[in-house]
Amino acid sequence: MLRARIIHGGILWNNAFLGQAGTPLVLLFHVSSFYDILMSLRIAKQPHSGGPKNAAAAHLRLIRRFTMSTKFSCADCAAKFCQDHMLDKLPPDCPTKTVGGEAFKAMYTDEDMRMAHMAALTECDGYGVHTRLEDTMGFAHRMGYKKLGIGFCTGFSREAATLIKILRSNGFEVESACCKCGSVKKEFIDIDQQHQINKNRDFEIMCNPAGQAEYLASQGVELAIILGLCVGHDTLFIKHASMPVTVLVAKDRAMGHNPVGALYTADSYKQYLYSFIKDNFPEE
Ligand code: SF4
Repeated sequence: MLRARIIHGGILWNNAFLGQAGTPLVLLFHVSSFYDILMSLRIAKQPHSGGPKNAAAAHLRLIRRFTMSTKFSCADCAAKFCQDHMLDKLPPDCPTKTVGGEAFKAMYTDEDMRMAHMAALTECDGYGVHTRLEDTMGFAHRMGYKKLGIGFCTGFSREAATLIKILRSNGFEVESACCKCGSVKKEFIDIDQQHQINKNRDFEIMCNPAGQAEYLASQGVELAIILGLCVGHDTLFIKHASMPVTVLVAKDRAMGHNPVGALYTADSYKQYLYSFIKDNFPEE
């Protein structure tokens, strides 16, 4: 028989209904949510979950998030009932209630449906084996895109040269535009010498993501590939792109361009991430 303890605002329950025999399980039952229990149980039942211990850890993560935000959203949801189409168990603020069913169908144009179909085939084909670059080429090929465009950071010039060779040797026509295209000085965006990367230089050229996107579109590019654009510059690129966009490399200078590394180490070496804004942007 399972002995589970649920602590909720000081109430301590011993409960036998909660799961498998003989496994002690402590759940901190937070805020309003019976879904918390459901979620933890659900995780515990999943074959890859590692059982109740991991469920409890996931639950604690959930609670940590709740302490920062009281509005529940998918990232807070450990259950992922949507994955198993368990529509009768959806949490109160679940997005599935808004974008599922008929609303879902209305959102997708025929072209969107085709794109989603090809993306699913790309995901299935070579799952866990194909690199992101292979997936990018496979998706572009399936979609029938003949002309691709690379929007890259000058810091990735060598990688861009390799990428354009690979894409061309796979039969694609390729255009490219580097971030400094347009050659506009940073004073245009009110950046003084003190805020340049190289403070010893009289001027620095600003990145021009809007120009990159506009140029690639003007060349008839059917799919734009972002290669190492900075945060914010990528935002502007996507904002201005009139063609579909995918990201091959997300720049992260501190993590070897592997941004997820910060998430993998957030609960160990990089716990300071939880108070980054408070620590780095004190009230002025
Ligand atoms: S859609 Fe609903 S069930 Fe799925 S993760 Fe989001 S909140 Fe959870």
